Amino acid sequence: MENIENFVYLDNAATTKPCTESIKAVNECLETKWGNPSSLHKKGIEAQLPVDNARKIIASSIGCDVSEIYFTSCATESTNLAIFGTAAALGRNKKKIVTTTIEHSSVKNCLDNLAQSGYEIVKISPDKNGIINFADIVNAVDENTCLVSIMLVNNETGYILPVKKAFTFIKKKYPSVNLHCDCVQAYMKINVRTDDIPADIMSFSAHKIHGVKGAGFIYIRKGTKIKPYLIGGGQEKGIRGGTESVPLIAGMAKAVEVLMPDIKQRFEKVTDLRSYLLQKLSSLDGIAINSDENCLPYIVNISLIGYRSEIILHYLEDKGIYISSGSACSKGAKSGVLTEFGISPERADSALRISFCAENTLSDIDRLINALSQAQKDILKK
Ligand code: PLP
Repeated sequence: MENIENFVYLDNAATTKPCTESIKAVNECLETKWGNPSSLHKKGIEAQLPVDNARKIIASSIGCDVSEIYFTSCATESTNLAIFGTAAALGRNKKKIVTTTIEHSSVKNCLDNLAQSGYEIVKISPDKNGIINFADIVNAVDENTCLVSIMLVNNETGYILPVKKAFTFIKKKYPSVNLHCDCVQAYMKINVRTDDIPADIMSFSAHKIHGVKGAGFIYIRKGTKIKPYLIGGGQEKGIRGGTESVPLIAGMAKAVEVLMPDIKQRFEKVTDLRSYLLQKLSSLDGIAINSDENCLPYIVNISLIGYRSEIILHYLEDKGIYISSGSACSKGAKSGVLTEFGISPERADSALRISFCAENTLSDIDRLINALSQAQKDILKK
């Protein structure tokens, strides 16, 4: 076992390390702004201020009004609110929902749940070239549709979906359909703006952007018909009951404040890391690349043909290198997303997800490549 303190973290799509500024903001609130923001006295007002400030920072980061941002505990809560809240508001007469076959489980499982109560869920698959065709999404929508839910960037491959194009067409033809976009893997990696993507609802998470776990937010465009999912004391204008987590919300906004100004520079740096990785991988035998040029550089999915993902994952872990075999929440269980992209089950069984943040270095990649090369010598193929 190597010195784990000297580790290489290449699993940023699962979670990111909270940045120092975010931790500081969290601690400051824990120590001094621990009041309940709903209290009418000084302690309450003191705690309301960071929440108001966070709402301003976050609204400005996606170009919307502060009244359109609602804090939640994570993106899963946001997607649940988007889906069940839409079903409660519009689902009495409209029982069709359009989505894709490659959504994160926090969307997929909500929709599977609605299917059991009589909703028709239409799932669009990538075509034979691994592309989700925007026209397939648009053509699936009709008068009976209450919701379209499409992710912006896939969490396993980095694939960028044609959300803007699809939503623009649907909005024109069916303005009363709620359009939800899961923006978790796109936010702070590319610009996500409400004037660019005509979504009515967008879901976001703090821990994917160097904030702290336990906070997320949802954007709900003014005038969107949606019912609350968590009903409580009327917080967040009655859309999300429950006392706001002031420290985690302040920490999330601080992470946004830190990352927002150099999205472009970080994108360029990560693009260079990706190119270097691909170049180095080409020197190894038996590697297949599962993330093509339609993918964000932050996520590179590869297969080490003939070796089971989990075996390699733990081999690398022993060497202090952390990557993943797929989506973190499926704990190694195959989600089926790769096979949706036309990747054979054998290749999917050997898949490894390498996901960057701008703090990663070329030497992180060198260590990964050396370890993969050594793994091919040390481990017998399955
Ligand atoms: N959507 C996508 C695309 C994700 O990658 C994730 C987390 O992996 C989620 C939603 C859920 O986010 P959270 O962990 O904040 O619930």
